[in-house]
Amino acid sequence: MKKTEEILAYRDRDGQEIKIPAVTFTGDSAGPHAVITAGVHGCEYPPIIAAAEFCRTCKLEDVRGTITVVTISALNSFEKRTPFVCPVDGKNPNRFFPGDESGSYTECLTYHLFHDIISKGDYHIDLHCGDMTETLAPFCEFGTGFSVEVDQKSREIALYSGMPNLVESNFRDGGGDLPEGLGYMNSVRYGIPAAIVEVGQMGRTDRDYVEGHLFCIRNVLRRFGNLSGQAVPTATPSWFTTYDSVYAPATGIFLRCVEAGEDVVSGQKIGVIEDYFGNPIAEATAHSAGRILYLTSSIAVQKDGFLLDMVLKS
Ligand SMILES: [Zn+2]
Repeated sequence: MKKTEEILAYRDRDGQEIKIPAVTFTGDSAGPHAVITAGVHGCEYPPIIAAAEFCRTCKLEDVRGTITVVTISALNSFEKRTPFVCPVDGKNPNRFFPGDESGSYTECLTYHLFHDIISKGDYHIDLHCGDMTETLAPFCEFGTGFSVEVDQKSREIALYSGMPNLVESNFRDGGGDLPEGLGYMNSVRYGIPAAIVEVGQMGRTDRDYVEGHLFCIRNVLRRFGNLSGQAVPTATPSWFTTYDSVYAPATGIFLRCVEAGEDVVSGQKIGVIEDYFGNPIAEATAHSAGRILYLTSSIAVQKDGFLLDMVLKS
């Protein structure tokens, strides 16, 4: 039985230091190796708070197998309070898995996160929330497309995540137009069952958000036999497979009239864009029926910039 806390330290090609805080629990009895990552986006606080709280409160005698928790994956973004990207090279870590050891700072970071930590796991949970300018309805997106067994385990992570909205993304069909380099999807490509969990938003640290992540961590660990105790599946989750995004029809001030979690119909007004004098210049509308999963909470939008993602019923 052992708990270790360590800061893994590396240097990128320009000599910049990369530090990854990781906690590993090793139980006395055999079990799988779980890997949990938080803080891949350094301003997404509830996942970081929950990961740290789990590490502080987890009792070694309850652990079977191995649990590795990276509490703040993008420590440089966290310390510099930089949303979305690593400030050293301006790249979003969640677009650069599996990384490149000789690439720029973020690519080197994701290389080590994946090759030295995540790839050692039997399954991977990546904890996120809406970033500083994003609002969202709690959801879990799980990766499929590798094998029947891996797909089933990814689905189980989702079903036991505690999230009400579950989205399947199969990388063989392009993951429903998902961007390249996503951490959880990369894990699935390498045969590691994985899912991303999203609860919380806009830099807030509400206890509800933290509890959402804590429930997910403990419940999934119980389901996979890493932690003693009874796991419970979400009773009546909503399942989705297909995304649809809405982009800004103009640059200006965006005043939305919908909220995350809301079901909308095709053609429904999403919001109005005004010019910098307050004159309405464009209307954003949904082009399909579905549930709004997350949307920009910022009123500053650029033409063709992201406004919201909705999911369509499977
Ligand atoms: Zn994130």
